[in-house]
Parts: sequence; C-alpha cells; structure tokens
Amino acid sequence: MRAVLLLSPEKLVLTEKEEEPVGHGEVKVAIRAVGICGSDLHTFKGLNPNARLPVIMGHEIAGEVAEIGGGVIGAEVGDRVVIEPLLRCGKCFHCVRGDYNRCTDLKIMGVHSDGGFCEYVVVKESMIYELPKEMTYAEGAMVEPTAASVHAAIKRGRIDLGESVAILGSGTIGLLLLQIVKACGASFVLVTDVVESRLKVARRLGADLVVDVREEDPVKLALEQTGGLGVDVAFEAVGKEVVLKQALQMTRAGGRVIIIGIYGRPSVKIDVMKTIFNKELVMKGSRVYSSGDFDRAIDLIRRREINVEPLLTHLLPLEETEKGIKLMIEHKEKAIKVHLKP
Ligand SMILES: [Zn+2]
Ligand SMILES: [Zn+2]
Repeated sequence: MRAVLLLSPEKLVLTEKEEEPVGHGEVKVAIRAVGICGSDLHTFKGLNPNARLPVIMGHEIAGEVAEIGGGVIGAEVGDRVVIEPLLRCGKCFHCVRGDYNRCTDLKIMGVHSDGGFCEYVVVKESMIYELPKEMTYAEGAMVEPTAASVHAAIKRGRIDLGESVAILGSGTIGLLLLQIVKACGASFVLVTDVVESRLKVARRLGADLVVDVREEDPVKLALEQTGGLGVDVAFEAVGKEVVLKQALQMTRAGGRVIIIGIYGRPSVKIDVMKTIFNKELVMKGSRVYSSGDFDRAIDLIRRREINVEPLLTHLLPLEETEKGIKLMIEHKEKAIKVHLKP
C-alpha cells in the first residue's frame, strides 16, 4: 500500500509499505478520510516530545472495513467506521475505570506507532465505532478532534449553564470547543486568535466576542465583559506560554483553566502565588478522550448540534500530504482542517 512516512523532522516520503496481516480480534480499515491535526504539525517539525520517528502520522481516521480477523463479532466487511486511535493496556488502574487516556502505557496511533496517512490500518475491533449513515467520511474524520473537545469541555471543564468562557485559539479544537460550550449553556464565550478569517468562523459559530490578539488585549476585554471578575473557565487551545499566561490572568478566582493545546516548548515560567495560589485557580490538563467521549462526539455531529462543515477547508490526495501540512503551517488564514483521501 501507499504510505507517507515521516523519516525525520520535516522529511516526508511517499513509500510503498507491506500491508499488515489481520490478527484475531482485529479489523483492517480502508481509509477514506484522514485529518491533519495540529499535533501532526508539531510532530512534523520535530516538536512533539511523544513522537517516535520514523512514523506514519495521522490519527483522525474514517474508513470502510476491508477485512475482519477471527473472533470479530461486531463488524463486517463494508461497514463504515471511525477509529479511536488509542492503544491502551486495558488492565491498569486507569483503563479499568474507563479513563484509558491516562493508561500507564498509552500509545497513540500516528504518534507512538503508525497511523493513517496511508491506505489501510489494522486495529482492534474495540477501536472502531460505527459511522452513522447520515454522516460523510469527512465528518467521520472530525469525530476524533470533536471527542477531544467534548472531553475538555464536559469532563475536564465541567461547563455549566450560564457560565462565562474564554477559548484561546480558534483552530479546529477551539472552534469545536466553542460549539460544545454553547451547547452546554455557556452564556458568554470569548474566542481569541491571530488569524482574522478564523475569528470570522468563530463569530459565525456563535462566539459572543472575538478578539484579534494582535490588535487588542484579551485579558482586558475578558475582565471588562465580566465586571472585572474574570471568566469562569478558560481553555488554552494554542500551546504557548504567552497564551497560558493570558488564560491564568483572565480567569476569575476559583475558576478553571483547561490546557488542551500541545506545548512544543513545555517549560513555562508562571507566577504561582499571584496567578494560582492567591486566586485558588484550578488548572487541569485535557488529554485526548476517555470512555463515552467518542460516542458523544458522533452523536453531536450526527444530530447537527455541532457543525464541522465550516472547518473543513481542504481535501487533498495522499500524495499531497506535505502540501497539506505546509498549508496548515503557513496559511492559517486559508486552512483550518485539511483532510487527505488515500
Ligand atoms: Zn489530534
Ligand atoms: Zn492501561
């Protein structure tokens, strides 16, 4: 099969790779759509500390079951599916409780092991979810980032009716978070970015205030909008020190700051006393998704509670993977989500 391999940072090759055999309890999925994630951009640049090169990137995968192994009872050839790309042990303290994103041996397809920038993947039956017939493959490939946003907003952020929320960064995750916190009943949502076209999409998707941080101070505006108090919850969906500082400053005492952005440079310097201790802030990480999040994400897209269509800006053939990655790095004004079609 054709596969796009990242040999070393910034060195991608289209290569021919032998297809993996389908073992007991496994299914082979013919990939119909796979998204390029912001974390793939980090991996491409050599800035993802979790990545193990060489690797086939890609973890936002939808496709069609092409072959099933022995013992598979819930899938048939021809089924339309989405893949939950987490390889977990299934036995540790966290896995047993359904918090498999905290598995002591967690591996993510396309990061620690080969992913979906290729024609076929072989996965355990437990990793596939049925793609409802009302949804396209492109929408199917949006389930993974939607599940991560559901996890961040609901399980980690615990958004409640009437709360004020700041979403820092309006890439795919920010724009999905926006729609989810609105659906949860947030009454005021501020969204920031440095790209005007993305802020336009945010406004169209229901943001109450959009802030171009090149021109305006988001902390000042967040405080103004909340009577000087600060927002109840801030989501850091960029992965930069300066943005984390904004989140800490604009959140009210006793509020929550949720980190969902990936930090290419993970060491940051913050004033713990002023920003966390004195304010009794709660700061939480939000990593991928756990039990139930994928089902919820599929349902939200199927019922059109979440509109992924404005985010889907490009569809390219697998051969143009590098072009897609560069579009997302260099042309943020045009590209939000780039999908590849093997
Ligand atoms: Zn991702
Ligand atoms: Zn585990």
